[in-house]
Amino acid sequence: MKFIPEIKYVKCPSCEELKFHPVVTRNALSRKDNKTYVCADCGTMEALLPLREIIEETTNEKEKERLMGLHERVTEDLKKFLETN
Ligand SMILES: [Zn+2]
Repeated sequence: MKFIPEIKYVKCPSCEELKFHPVVTRNALSRKDNKTYVCADCGTMEALLPLREIIEETTNEKEKERLMGLHERVTEDLKKFLETN
């Protein structure tokens, strides 16, 4: 997430980091209850969770391992992207 210095970010109710935009609707609506706003980073991570659950249900162990590796790489890349943009 791109931080704009003149905006005073507040504590995110999910990760508790100062990443929550003061204009509530400029954040992400949590998928957990569909009414709580969380910071953009938390919103992105929540979006990736269902994918992991689907992968965990995969019964083919070799395929599961491959998809888990892919999921971890995408998550790491996304974290890096969010930190630098
Ligand atoms: Zn957060």
